[in-house]
Amino acid sequence: MKGESLLQAIGSTPLVEIGTLSNNPAVRILAKLEGNNPGGSVKDRPARQMILAAEASGELTPDKVILEPTSGNTGIALAMIAAARGYRIKLVMPACVSVERRSVLEAYGAEIVLSPGCEATDGAIRLAHKILAQDPERYYMPNQYSNPNNVLSHYLTTGPEIWEQTGGTVTHVVAGIGTSGTVIGLSRFFREKNPEVRVVAVEPVLGHKIQGLKNMQEAIVPAIYDPASYHHKLVVEDDDAFETARLLASKQGIFCGMSGGAAVSGALRLSGDLASGTVVVIVPDRGDRYLSTNLFKSMCADCPP
Ligand code: PMP
Repeated sequence: MKGESLLQAIGSTPLVEIGTLSNNPAVRILAKLEGNNPGGSVKDRPARQMILAAEASGELTPDKVILEPTSGNTGIALAMIAAARGYRIKLVMPACVSVERRSVLEAYGAEIVLSPGCEATDGAIRLAHKILAQDPERYYMPNQYSNPNNVLSHYLTTGPEIWEQTGGTVTHVVAGIGTSGTVIGLSRFFREKNPEVRVVAVEPVLGHKIQGLKNMQEAIVPAIYDPASYHHKLVVEDDDAFETARLLASKQGIFCGMSGGAAVSGALRLSGDLASGTVVVIVPDRGDRYLSTNLFKSMCADCPP
C-alpha cells in the first residue's frame, strides 16, 4: 500500500518527565510529546484511522477528493496522508488563517478554499458542506467532529502506549478538549484496562484564544463528545496556558503549543491536590506552529506586543 511506512511512523511518541515546574515531588508528571508525530501533531492519529477506515468501507476510492473544513492540525495531518497515499485533497479554511499554516498545506499539495474570515470555523464548516452538497459523488469528507474513528485512534494507540510506557503505573491522564477525540478515546481505553485511572479533561474558558481547543458551550458541540465518559474537568484560563507553554520551553526545553500549555497547566494544578501518583499529560503539538502568534513573542522585552 502506498505510504505505508509513513503511516506506520505515526504514534509511539516519547513520554518525558516534567520535573522542575511541579511543586509536588510526590507526584510524577510525564508529558506525551505528540509533536513528534511525522505531521507534527496528535492529529496524525485520527487522520490515519479515518482514512484507513474510509478505504476499508469503500467510502474513499482513488477517484475521490478528500474534503474537510479545517485550518489546523487535522488539515495538515490529512494533507500529509493524502500526499503519501496519492489522493487529492481540498481544505476549506477561514481567510484569516496564518500564512505559515497555508504554506505547510500548500507544500503537501493540498488545494485551499478560503471561507469568509469573519465567520471563523463555523463559516468553513458551512462552505465545506455546500461544496459537498453540490457534488457528493466527487468528495469524501472525514468529518472529525462526528467520525468515531477519531475516538478509536486514541483507544487503539494513545491509550495502550501510555499504559506500556508507564508500566501500568499511570494514575491520571490529562488532555485538552477540541473535538474531544483524545479525551473520549482515552476514557474508553482506561475504563477497560484499569478503571482506577482518572481521565481529566482540560477545557478553555468561553471566548478563549487557545488554538485547537473548544469550550463546549460554543455553538457547535462535536457529535462524538460524551461528558459522562471522563471523570473530571478543569477549566484553564488563556494566561495560565500561555505562561505554562513559555515556562515549558524556557525551563524544561519542551517547546509546545498553546493547548499543550493549557493541558500541562491543568496537570500541575491537579498534581498539587494529590498525595501521590503518576500523571500523564498530552502535549498535542510543537511551538513552531505558533511563531506568528504572540505565544512566545512577549518573552523578549524589546519586542512590540
Ligand atoms: N490541541 C491542538 C493543537 C489540536 O489541534 C487539537 C485538535 N483539535 C487538540 C488540542 C484537541 O484534541 P481533540 O480534538 O482530540 O480533542
